Amino acid sequence: MSKSTLLLWDIDGTIIVSQGAGVRAMERALTKCFGVSCDLSVIDWAGRTDSWIVTAVLRHVGLEYTPENARVYLETYLELLPMELRNGPQGQVLPGVTTLLELLHRHPDVAQGLLTGNLRRGAEHKLTHYGVWHYFAFGAFADDSPHRNDLGPHAQRRAKELHDREFAPERTFIIGDTPHDIACGKVIGAHTIAVATGQHSVAQLAAHQPTVVFPNLADTAAFLRTIGVPAAE
Ligand SMILES: [Mg+2]
Repeated sequence: MSKSTLLLWDIDGTIIVSQGAGVRAMERALTKCFGVSCDLSVIDWAGRTDSWIVTAVLRHVGLEYTPENARVYLETYLELLPMELRNGPQGQVLPGVTTLLELLHRHPDVAQGLLTGNLRRGAEHKLTHYGVWHYFAFGAFADDSPHRNDLGPHAQRRAKELHDREFAPERTFIIGDTPHDIACGKVIGAHTIAVATGQHSVAQLAAHQPTVVFPNLADTAAFLRTIGVPAAE
């Protein structure tokens, strides 16, 4: 049976919370590369791409943005991230997510990929640490564009290459925890499933008119009803 339903997952605040491992790695990379120490938690970067974030960080600390500065900074961030994931406060896979990923991974009608502001290697570090990387055979990442709204078409193209078919926008679902996720889903005419397990409440997300908003993804049956997929035997 050919798959006809495409799910594209955000990572931070949607699949996992890493208890600040990403921010700490960004802060440590700033010190290691440029000798600058700074509390980067003041930057509102939920839903942004890593390549957008590096521009904001360099500006925030008064460093010149150059392609070389950005490259060295992100490379150092990627080197430091695994250690921060291992040694810092432990985050978690968010409620209900592993159940859904496992169930949908085996479902004959469903293709699952990532649509995330993480760099591909950063996404791999985070999801490998939490044991869920193997569910995702493809994705769109910050490597593709600094602008999240550009990422949908990259994910659609990779889904088509891997599964050898087009996925209709009305059978495509973007799952994310910020208004940026909702916006980038709307750009490609997809449905948007917002989840309030990041920094935005149900009411804040509802104001951006996603297809549906959940407090978390623990209600497996409600999620399956939303995507119109019956549980496989
Ligand atoms: Mg997120």
